[in-house]
Amino acid sequence: MEIKVHEITAKSLLRKMKRIDSWFLAAYGMNIYRGCEHNCLYCDGRAEKYQVEGEFGLEVSVKVNAIEILERELDPRRKRTPFRKGYICIGGGVGDSYQPIEKKYKLTRQVLELLCEKDFPVHILTKSHLVLRDIDLLKKINDKKRAIVSFSLSSARDDIGKHFEPMASSPSQRLGAAKQLKKAGIAVGVFLLPVIPFITDTREIITDTLEKVQNANVDFILFGGMTLEEGRQKDFFYSTLGKLFPGLIPAYKNIYRNDHWGSQWGNATGEYYSTIQQTFNEAIRPYRLPQRIPPDFYVDLLDENDKVAVMLEHIDYFLKSQGKTSPYGYAAYSISQLKQPLANMKSTLCSLKGVGKVTERIILEILNTGKSSFLEKLFASGQGPHGMDSGVPIRLSGPTEAFFK
Ligand code: SF4
Repeated sequence: MEIKVHEITAKSLLRKMKRIDSWFLAAYGMNIYRGCEHNCLYCDGRAEKYQVEGEFGLEVSVKVNAIEILERELDPRRKRTPFRKGYICIGGGVGDSYQPIEKKYKLTRQVLELLCEKDFPVHILTKSHLVLRDIDLLKKINDKKRAIVSFSLSSARDDIGKHFEPMASSPSQRLGAAKQLKKAGIAVGVFLLPVIPFITDTREIITDTLEKVQNANVDFILFGGMTLEEGRQKDFFYSTLGKLFPGLIPAYKNIYRNDHWGSQWGNATGEYYSTIQQTFNEAIRPYRLPQRIPPDFYVDLLDENDKVAVMLEHIDYFLKSQGKTSPYGYAAYSISQLKQPLANMKSTLCSLKGVGKVTERIILEILNTGKSSFLEKLFASGQGPHGMDSGVPIRLSGPTEAFFK
């Protein structure tokens, strides 16, 4: 299908995060393109709040002055405060930086050249194997600072991807690219996000995905469910799902209810998210796949307060995903709001909101040694020996199976 291209001049490119986010470890993000040819059916870039103009999937705005703006934004003489330490995250959001139009404009490549020259670490999130074109630059960035390339997948099934991510590289191509990047010495992650309700969230399909992800030798995998915001995103998804699987609409309406507290963010019910998290937890047990970005990828890159906050958030994730309660997310938030270094507060840590005696011990260990033995234990728990037989037969079945065959 013909894509309508709009060349635009943007006023800014880098978006400073309010705090280092513990999923991507990003201090800054950027969208070089607005709109995305990949046209994933579930893309939340369609949601009105992102204000992407035109018909999503069929129109793309290209920030043709991106390099000029970035040069200005990276100039330390123009900044009143120093750059925040952390990764610069390229892609995701409202447009994949390696969507087909990048072959013509090469803006992502030029952005990488500039970030390499200025010594910034980079985290790329994409659904395209076009990222392999820039492997030379990624190696250079990795040698100077660090580069991570993450691929997002809703499953490893090409037949499902063809319908739900019609113009993206197939899941096999993405995992093939992941293998090549790993061979080149670049860290690689998978965002199994979003799993599609009643289609890719089954134990069988998640297990199949994990098997293939492990074979690609990736460094970590993050898991998450789908959101469906009222308006453009939900209307588009339902109208397409109605053509593919009309029988699934009532089940969707049941989990994406308007009466739910989170419906304003497009969340499904808490029960649905707990169920798929449990399915994922059980399926991943036999695999050696870290479920958060491991500390080795950030301990030397982040400021101390941010490092502590990220580690506490990761502890919080592991405990909550096991159905336990945790005060660590709240403590992480308090620390992320601090204006002074934690190192100056070693004797008064318990005065911080959410920090009790146990949390204080964890923080002191991180400040004194750069690591948390509790977090290491949580990373290790639930991961079997590499290559161990899960005992779970890979059987692809389910109500939608016949459709994809
Ligand atoms: S690749 Fe990402 S940004 Fe592009 S349509 Fe798919 S989900 Fe949206």
